[in-house]
Parts: sequence; C-alpha cells; structure tokens
Amino acid sequence: MAVNYICRHCKTNMGSIEGSLITEQQLGFHFLTPDERSDIITYESNGDVTVKVACDYCNEALNSNPELMLVNNPLQ
Ligand SMILES: [Zn+2]
Repeated sequence: MAVNYICRHCKTNMGSIEGSLITEQQLGFHFLTPDERSDIITYESNGDVTVKVACDYCNEALNSNPELMLVNNPLQ
C-alpha cells in the first residue's frame, strides 16, 4: 500500500509513503476524531490511502486569511 499526501486546497502532491507495515498509529491517525478521519483520510479501492493536508503555501495563506477556511478552493 501507499499513503499519498495531497494538499486539500490546491491538490499539490506532497509526497507519499510506500510500505506494507504502516500502521494508523505511526501515521498519527489515532489522534483524530471519527469526523476528522473521514474528512482527512480516503481509502482508495486499490488499497492506497490518501491523506488530505495543507501544504506550506496554503497554510500560510490560511494563517493570514483565516476566512479562506470557509471556501473550498480559495486559491483557484
Ligand atoms: Zn496547497
């Protein structure tokens, strides 16, 4: 399986982790509430996992413009 990280805002591919021994504990998923998990983590049909995070660029944009959080794709 692979865990792919993409930016939830601009869809930038932020890297991926390959391996069959990755646990949710190692990824920190167990810290998330069920709602956060379903929002952030997508289990693909091929067994991969997609994790939606915010890249540095979008993080910075959101920090300086918190109201952008309310918009789905603020940078497009
Ligand atoms: Zn981004």
